[in-house]
Amino acid sequence: MGSSVSACRLVCAEPGCKAVADRDSALTRCDSCGGLLEFAYELEATASSRWRELWRSRLGSAAPSDRSGVWRFRELLPEFGEAPPITLGEGGTPMPEAPSTAAWAGVARLTTKHLGGNPTGSFKDLGMTVAISEAARLGRPVVACASTGNTSSSMAAYAARAGLRSVVLVPKGAVSRAKLAQAADFGSLILEAGETFDQAFQALRDLAPEFGLYLVNSINPLRIEGQKTAVLEILEQRGWRAPDFLALPGGNLGNCSALGKGLRELRELGWLDRMPRILVTQAKGASPFHQMWRSGATELTPEEKPATRATAIRIGSPANWRRARRVLEMTNGLTAAVSEEEIAEAKRQLASEGIGCEPASAAAVAGVRQLRQAGEIPTSSEVVAILTGNQLKDTDYIAETSRTLDGPSPTSDVRTQLARWLSH
Ligand SMILES: *Cc1c(COP(=O)(O)O)cnc(C)c1O
Ligand SMILES: [Zn+2]
Repeated sequence: MGSSVSACRLVCAEPGCKAVADRDSALTRCDSCGGLLEFAYELEATASSRWRELWRSRLGSAAPSDRSGVWRFRELLPEFGEAPPITLGEGGTPMPEAPSTAAWAGVARLTTKHLGGNPTGSFKDLGMTVAISEAARLGRPVVACASTGNTSSSMAAYAARAGLRSVVLVPKGAVSRAKLAQAADFGSLILEAGETFDQAFQALRDLAPEFGLYLVNSINPLRIEGQKTAVLEILEQRGWRAPDFLALPGGNLGNCSALGKGLRELRELGWLDRMPRILVTQAKGASPFHQMWRSGATELTPEEKPATRATAIRIGSPANWRRARRVLEMTNGLTAAVSEEEIAEAKRQLASEGIGCEPASAAAVAGVRQLRQAGEIPTSSEVVAILTGNQLKDTDYIAETSRTLDGPSPTSDVRTQLARWLSH
């Protein structure tokens, strides 16, 4: 491979604790304090100065683990030894500029990082390739998750690839049909459990030990490792120049935790010219993290009845809120809560310049505009907005909110409709 992998240990993520965990026992919580676990690396700027060149050189290689936008960065991932990664060619997603949306939001530059271009259509693939590789390495035959949809689509695909069985717990009637169709296509067992993601997640945690299920929700530290590569890729694609803001939607807050971890490690490597500020946007009806952050509270109060049509972020009790909070502290970050109308408007705005995405992804862009208007983001800002999911994930939403689909009256003939439309 021509380079050494960093020494890395699984430790408790809570700053006061420092307990060390055993990777092979596959726990997701610290034995001593109940905190989440994370991988800690011994990083040295000098030893790793060649990595950036190495990572870039792999783009020209034919090996699947070099072509993956996750495994290409394996010096910053946990060691897998001889075990081949379970990969579907994730990562390597485009970064289209959105000049019209920048003007609409009132900022100098807005670039999107479209993670909807991943194999199953969302950023979940970046973490799932690592989590499922771990399940395969450990010889765990059944993987499982609770999901608002995309985690299940992704888990189902990677489990199929690895030859593992997979089980999905979803809230009743709250997941888009396209996402369930993906999980079904890849052969997962799909079970409805409760009315909300939080109830489905609790049910899964109750069942997992009894049935020996390997959990791949974002409390799994391997997920976080894969997802942090989005930050490496963004910085690489920008010539290692950080933007002023990194905007993303917040649900269970795993992605915020992952991107923050990526930034922290890049800073330790000495490759960050400055720390971008992270802006987490939630939907108003599911915004417990925003409310905690804005009120200065030190504990999160769960939202019992989370409500939003952006179902990917319809989460009332985010499991990763503590580490997401530390990410906001580290990056001098911000939060926003946007209305359903603001989400729909942001989605239409992106679509007007050819960028399709999920409603949850559009929320991040709505948050940029809202905070710009509130004077919290300067007009001179360069923003990278993480678009978390693909446009085709939720076509029912588009049918319900789009002007075109409920446009010209179907009672008039085609000629009349066309003529009327052209005259506007
Ligand atoms: C999972 C998901 C989110 C929320 O990410 P968290 O890590 O749970 O905060 C946002 N958008 C899309 C499209 C998702 O699939
Ligand atoms: Zn601990």
